[in-house]
Amino acid sequence: MIKDYLRKIYNSSAVSPLINLLGFPWKGRGAILVYHRIVKDDQIKEDLELGLTVSCSNFEKQIKELKSKYKICSMNEFVENLKKKKNEFMVTITFDDGYKDNLLQALPILTKHEVPATIYVTTRFLDKDVDIWWYELADIIQNKSDLKFEYDGKKFNFLLKNKKQKFLAYQNLTKLFKSLKIVQQNQLIEKITNTKKRKNYSNICLDSKEVLKLEKNPLITIGSHGHNHQNLKILSDDEVKFEIKKSLEILEKLLNHKIKHFAYPFGGKDHVSIREQKMIENMNFETAVIGSVYPIKDYNFFSLPRIYVGKNTCEKTLINHLGGFYNLAGKLIS
Ligand SMILES: [Zn+2]
Repeated sequence: MIKDYLRKIYNSSAVSPLINLLGFPWKGRGAILVYHRIVKDDQIKEDLELGLTVSCSNFEKQIKELKSKYKICSMNEFVENLKKKKNEFMVTITFDDGYKDNLLQALPILTKHEVPATIYVTTRFLDKDVDIWWYELADIIQNKSDLKFEYDGKKFNFLLKNKKQKFLAYQNLTKLFKSLKIVQQNQLIEKITNTKKRKNYSNICLDSKEVLKLEKNPLITIGSHGHNHQNLKILSDDEVKFEIKKSLEILEKLLNHKIKHFAYPFGGKDHVSIREQKMIENMNFETAVIGSVYPIKDYNFFSLPRIYVGKNTCEKTLINHLGGFYNLAGKLIS
């Protein structure tokens, strides 16, 4: 009952005094927002991308609303501010994966409003040939009415006749993909699509020249998101080191300076553990961000929580989230 009520106001866009009152103790000392893609309004589709996309007009409304209420700073400034005993509540904006629209759509809006952001780049996505299982999976589920395959001795059989069935199948299979290493992921997508030929998504990913372009803008900080976008928690020590070092090698050679900030791929509790946090710390990064939501209070710079901004987040909901209510509700309804 309470959960239902919380869920209702959690999704509501009305900023009510009750929400602010309930949320206040959970507000924390600052907030990090995570975006993925910003696309033109007419390119927003009803699809299975799990809300990865935010329209340009929504993004600009959010930026304006945030700017009217909070100071939006760079990741470096955010960290310096957190180190102070009595800090000011600040907001910092991040983007994961390294999509082309971060340069083409988000940057003009960030520049117009003079808002800094950090972009965490998956270095494999800089190649000319880029396969991305979550896009290929969404594509096949969207276009089929059922899906049958065998993987690892198990039979899978999904009916995909309506939106709900498609969404559940996508969720189910996404969970499976995230639990696999890249070699196994390739085997699984081959079984699902029934072909060894992978689709190329380089048209939606930043290339090296574009990362350089972003880097030249003083508002932008480039961070690492690993090389292959793998779940680091399931990898061996050597494999984790490879994922991080390879991405550093590529980015530092390209940008000619040290990379200080990292975002764990997927970033949930099933994808990041103390071991990876220690490894990141030992590799002399200054911060690392995760995907989970909780207030930044007793912060750990190698496990900084973030608030997810997706397709259905409007600027009013976002302000409710920053007021602390998101942190409280996330705890109670999850
Ligand atoms: Zn990612």
